[in-house]
Order: sequence, then structure tokens, then C-alpha cells
Amino acid sequence: MRIKDKNTCPYADYCGGCQMQGIPYAQQLNKKEARMNQLLGRFHSVNPILGMQDPYHYRNKINASFAYVDHRVICGNYVESTHMIVESKDCQINDEKANEIIESIRVLAQKYRISIFNEDTLKGGLRHVMIRVSSSGEIMVVLICGSMSVMHLDELVKELKKKYPEITTVVLNQNNRHTSMVLGNQTKTLYGKGYITDQLCGLDFRVSPKSFFQVNKRQTEALYNTAIRMAHFEGKETLIDAYCGTGTIGLLCAKHVKEVIGVELNKDAIKDAVINAKNNRVDNIRFVADDAGNFMRSLVREKKKIDAVILDPPRKGADRKFLDALLTLSPKKVVYISCGPESLKENLAYLTKRGYQIREIQPVDMFPFTNHIETVVLLSRTGEKPR
Ligand code: SAH
Repeated sequence: MRIKDKNTCPYADYCGGCQMQGIPYAQQLNKKEARMNQLLGRFHSVNPILGMQDPYHYRNKINASFAYVDHRVICGNYVESTHMIVESKDCQINDEKANEIIESIRVLAQKYRISIFNEDTLKGGLRHVMIRVSSSGEIMVVLICGSMSVMHLDELVKELKKKYPEITTVVLNQNNRHTSMVLGNQTKTLYGKGYITDQLCGLDFRVSPKSFFQVNKRQTEALYNTAIRMAHFEGKETLIDAYCGTGTIGLLCAKHVKEVIGVELNKDAIKDAVINAKNNRVDNIRFVADDAGNFMRSLVREKKKIDAVILDPPRKGADRKFLDALLTLSPKKVVYISCGPESLKENLAYLTKRGYQIREIQPVDMFPFTNHIETVVLLSRTGEKPR
């Protein structure tokens, strides 16, 4: 039940960002734990969910959309399942500096009479903004516009940089299509390097506008450390980091194993992963740009010996092609990181009917105030020693 008190976000009834506003944090965790027990309890006991000490302002990647209403530029999140904007100025889950910058962009857009994108005619300028903040405080601003030349945008950028010296790069991205995707294809760096560098568990990672990077640093470290603890590496393993994004997990595991191969569909993410390996001086890792299932099949054809697989697929989970190849490769350990509890349940049912046993289930609360639940599961071959 939603309880309104002084801590409840004033936009909670309209905004599509959070689903658990007004529910005390301890109760949110109980609800998530109960949900995971209901879904996965028949496989194995579920550990208590790892929650946050302070569940506010954890998001380091923030998107906001613009519209022009009654001669005013407005900016914020969409009302759930619509394209109406809620002016969620002091959003409780966003980084506070990012909230402030977004409001400044809105005010500057008004001041310089920047044209605002019209979703019906697919014409006009400023459409969305994406802010990414690194843990060392570097900030990237991506201005998503209907065209690559928007009148007076330079003045807006100049004033914004002056006000916030922590903005180290500003990128212009064009998106004039009818789509719910925020970013379009064309990108131009207006200022700085076009990316920021973030730190996770002691390594540096390049974060470009399009690359996937977990949005909650504190909990990402808890998540990755859980995965590494569960895998209990001995130093001799060949490890696959499937759905590796910019290579974060594989790079963190590299010092614990003999070699790592990361596989990922997004070519931009793979480019970042290769750079991340170089910058962190990790040389026992390589990356392949391919569908994870295809790649696993190619390993089966090569008869490659794989000791461990960490997979971190998107919400829809891994497909049959991937799972069947995994079963053929038959690694000793599988660590499954999931952001989709339903697909996780299905994938686990498939694997546990075919020779794997679940050894541990650990939910992690990466997204307080929302319904989302992240889970790490350790599996190993049935009948063998668990670790
Ligand atoms: N492990 C990374 C990224 C996880 S997000 C991290 O923790 O940062 C899931 C990733 O799977 C995304 O980068 C997405 O591009 C990738 N992906 C989606 N479908 C894929 C497929 N069929 N094969 C390989 N990678 C895929």
C-alpha cells in the first residue's frame, strides 16, 4: 500500500519512474525477497536481498525529455505508458547534481529560445537529455535533438559548461525518428572527449553515450563481488563472460583465472571493452562481437574446454541456442546474473532438468523504489562438489 508522508515523492502518482514510492525501504526489500522466494523458492533457498544503506539518489545515468507547453519549456520523465511529461525536478533516485543540471538546461533552453522537438511532426530541436555521472565526479551531457544544427545550442552549451566545470564532455546526438529509443544513430562531440571514465572495484571503465553501464555504482560493486565470490575461481580456469557489455565482469575476474573471453552483440560496447582491457593492463582477456548463442556454438564446434561461464543477459534471458551450447560445453560452474526474474526462472528450469543444480541464489537491490530485481545464481553440474 502506498503511504503518503513527507518523504514521498510529490510526483509519485503520475511519474513512470518508480513503482514503490511511499513504501518504506525495509518493506520494499521484504516485497522483493518474497517475490523471489515465490518465483525461485522451489529450486533452492533464496538468500536475504542485499539492500542499500541509503537508497536515494543512486542513479548515475539520467534521461529526461523536453516539451513545449503553454509557452514554457518543460522537462522530466514520462507518465507511465504515455508521452506526457512529469516535471520531476528533484527526482529522489537520480544523482542530485544531474537533477540540477537538467533543470539548468531547461532554464537555458527557455532563455535562448531553443526549438523543442515536436513528436507529432518529428521536427524541431531539443528532444531529450542524457546525463552520466562517474564516481569521481566527471559528468557527460548528451543533448538528443531532432537535427544536428540547432540554433543557439552553442550558447546554451557555453553557459552550461561555465556554470558546471565538472561537465567534462558534451555530445550532440540526432534522433528524429518515431521511436521510444532515446538515442539516434548520429553523434558529434561538442566538447571534451566524448566519453567519461568511471571506476568499479578498483578498475577504470570508459563509458560512451551508447555503452551499457550499470546505473547504481554501490550496488554494482556488491553484485560483481557476489558473482566473483560464488564462482570461487582457482586460477586455472578458462572463463566466458557472456553478454559482457563493456567487459566489466570479465576484466574484474581476469586476475582470478587463466583466461577470459567476453562476448557481446553491441560493437560499440566491444570497442570500449578492448580499450578498458588495455587501460587496466589486463592481457589475459579477449573480446568477440557476436550473438552470445552463436559464439557458444562456435566453441562447441572447436571443442574448446570451458571451465566457467558468467552470463548477464538482457531482461528476456538467454535463448535456447545459448542454453543448449552451454549444456554441451558443460562448464563446471555457471554464474547467472539476471535482471529479469521471469526469464531467470524459465532458464533455470531448463538447466536444472538437464544436468545442473542450483547452489546459491542471491538477490541484490540495484533499483530501490522500482519493481526491478537483480539476482545472482550459482549453478554447478549435478552430483559434483558444489564449489
Ligand atoms: N555484463 C555487462 C552488461 C550486461 S547488460 C555489465 O554488467 O555491464 C546485457 C548486455 O547484453 C548488453 O550489453 C547487450 O548489448 C547484450 N546483448 C543483448 N543481446 C545479446 C546477444 N544476443 N548476444 C550477446 N550480447 C547481447
